[in-house]
Formats: sequence, structure tokens, C-alpha cells
Amino acid sequence: MRTGLSVVEAQETVLAATPVLGAETVAVREALGRVLCEAVLSGRVLPPADCSAMDGYAVRRSDCLAASRDAPTELAVRFEVAAGHAPERAVGSGEAARIFTGAPLPPGADAVVRQEDTEADGRGERVRIQVVPEKREHVRNAGEDLQVGDRVLERGDAIRPAQVGVLASLGRAVVSVHQRPRVAILSGGDELVEPDGDVAGGGIVSSNSYSLAAQCLEVGAEPVYLGIARDRPEDLERILRSALGADCIVSSAGVSVGDHDHVRPVLEKLGCELVFWGVHMKPGFPLTFGRFGERGPLVFGLPGNPVSAMVTFEQFVRPALLRMTGHRALFRPTVRARVRGRLEKKAGRLHFVRVHLERSAGPDGEIWAESTGNQSSGVLRSMTLARGLLVFPAEATRIADGEPATVQVLDESFFAGETPGF
Ligand code: AMP
Ligand code: MG
Repeated sequence: MRTGLSVVEAQETVLAATPVLGAETVAVREALGRVLCEAVLSGRVLPPADCSAMDGYAVRRSDCLAASRDAPTELAVRFEVAAGHAPERAVGSGEAARIFTGAPLPPGADAVVRQEDTEADGRGERVRIQVVPEKREHVRNAGEDLQVGDRVLERGDAIRPAQVGVLASLGRAVVSVHQRPRVAILSGGDELVEPDGDVAGGGIVSSNSYSLAAQCLEVGAEPVYLGIARDRPEDLERILRSALGADCIVSSAGVSVGDHDHVRPVLEKLGCELVFWGVHMKPGFPLTFGRFGERGPLVFGLPGNPVSAMVTFEQFVRPALLRMTGHRALFRPTVRARVRGRLEKKAGRLHFVRVHLERSAGPDGEIWAESTGNQSSGVLRSMTLARGLLVFPAEATRIADGEPATVQVLDESFFAGETPGF
């Protein structure tokens, strides 16, 4: 087992061991947020026929070359084409067809004149054309969206609302996507109770069970909560055994070097290959990573402190779950921000500092990051306040007031606006 890795070494090691999960078929309606496991080729021509983009009149352009507002060209309206109905005949010379948006262009016609550029006679028999249309003006050409055989979507594309719409318009009811990882979550410690439990005698609510499950849900993984293991190897072993069918096991607490820290020996007893322990970061040093062979679950033994558990999940478990789900983009967006108030630490470990983030007014406003205050790994409130994690590099010892730093943005509403506009 390796020990004392840098954050980047640990991330690379985790991702090198992380498989992309296989395919499953889901209904297109349910596919939002999933990742395609197939390339999608068009089996159709879209739109299937030339059709009108406006309400107006289908004409032969050559009939209208002399038209103007002062001297309109009069045409005989022979028939009408509505959306969803085939034209009953062709447009002949000196003729027009009343046409509506989405209706197929009748043979003979080569342009549509908008209703606003015409004057009807009131009986629907004759129309006066006031402009000279361009050739194929206001006509949507057959196949301008898709041709048969066009490659529309790629394997690895994340499915957003537009992809759902394209799949539907190709007539697809189901689509092949990567499976969602099932993540077994367990917590360990004699002091832990469920939220409705008794905290009078030194009990602590197992909040990690909740925050970690929510972090799984946030990336589209499926958490399976296995409960609380007591600080006895047998209890931990019993619960870990029930997790062996999952794609990933996330356990919190019990990975340090205390007398009651049983996670590592029990994992080894169950046949887990421990890959590394200890990452030069704060919070989160005692992180443990292992795997059960090529096909078994990945195992993350996260530290128990609530902030350490969440921050190590962010850095290692989240990218692994995204990779399993087939995503190509595995990491949070980062911004460069100027630090408000100076930061200091000892050299050696990379610190993730919970920070407020704000943008000063104006379109090119600078981004400022400021510590949320008490950075103890037990203060979960620091995570509720944090819109980002500031990366204070391992060897750095101070960042002066106003100096720039890289911040991982946790709260994507940071990029969202509150007022309409561009
Ligand atoms: P440990 O890793 O077992 O030494 O735990 C470190 C600290 O994290 C202790 O103060 C624990 O009470 C706390 N802790 C452990 N597990 C949880 C959990 N599931 N939820 C909240 N706090 C926890
Ligand atoms: Mg403990």
C-alpha cells in the first residue's frame, strides 16, 4: 500500500482504477442527465418535406417579380394547405395557395409570402402580393435539420433537454446509456445515532450518512444506505459484506490510527486490495482507497469529521462516480479569485479552504474569495456557507490580501444570475 500521496497523485490513482460502467436501456423521457452509451445516427430526413415557415401564401416567384406595395400583383387563391395535410394540387402560373406554418409546400410553388406582405380580398379567392419574394423565402427545406445517416449524438454525450428532443424527433422511445453507479454508504462509530436518536449521553448524529448520500445524488449516482457500524470489527465486517455487490463503497470514520479504527484491517480481511492511505491534504489526511479486484467495488474509507468526509468525497469519490457514469468532464469548474484577508499555513499539505465567493459589480467584476471563518474539520456549517473550496497549494505558506488563488466552485448558482438579461 502506498502512503503519503499528493492530491493529484491520489486523484490519478483513483481514476486509473475506476471503470466506466456498462450500458442499460432507459426510456427517452427518463434519460435527462444520463450519458449516452451509443452514437445516435439519424434514420430520418427532418423536416421530412419542404414546408412553410410562415402563415401566408405559397407562390411562384416568377409571378411576383413586379410586385410592390404601390402596385401589388394579384393572384388567384386556388386552395389551402394546413399543417399536417397534404396539398391537394399544384400551384399553377398566376395562382397562389393559402398556407400555414408547418404545412407542406405544394408542387409548383417556390416561395412563401408572409400574410403581412399581402392583402386578401375578403372572400379568400384572390390575394394581392406586395413584395418580391426571394427564391425559397420562408421555406424550410426538407432535410435542413437532419439527413438520413447524419451522426447526431456521440457516445459520451451528456443528455440535456435538447438531446431528449432530438431523440424523440428521430422516433426513439428508448436509448442506451451508461449505468448509474450504486454506492453503498456506511458510517462507523459507537457515538453515532440516527437524526431522531438520543444525543444526551454523548451521541452524535451521523450526518455523514446524509451529506454523502446527497453528494451521490448530486452526480446522478444511487446511494444505498447501509446504516451505522459499531466500533467492533465483527459489526463492520457484517455491514461491509453486504456492500460487496455495489459499484462503490463509501465508508466514513474509523480510518485513522486510533484503537477503534477498524476499517483498514477489516477491508483487508475481506480481500480488499488497499491501494493507498494518507493524502497530503487538509482536511482529509487519513483517506483510504482500495479495490476488490478488477470487478469488485471501489472502496473509499473517508475520514469521519463531517467536513473531511465531504471534502474528500468532492476530490476523489465525485470524479470517480462521474467517470463510472460515462462523463468526460469529471471536475468542478474553477475560477481565479482574489483573496480577501490573508491566509497562512505550514508547508506540506494542500489546504482546501472553505470560502465565500462574490463578484464585484459590473460586467467584468472581479471575483473575491474570503474564508468562511472557523476552518475546523468538525464545523459542517463552514460547508453550508462555502460556495467554493480555495486551493492553498501544498508548499505555499501564505497568500496575501488581494493575491489571486484558484477556487473550485461548489455552488453552481455562483454562475447564475438573478435578473433577466444578457
Ligand atoms: P473517527 O474518524 O472515527 O476518528 O471520527 C472523527 C470524528 O468524526 C469524530 O468526532 C466523530 O464523532 C465524527 N464522525 C464520525 N462519523 C461521523 C458521521 N457519520 N457523522 C458525523 N460525524 C461523524
Ligand atoms: Mg470513530
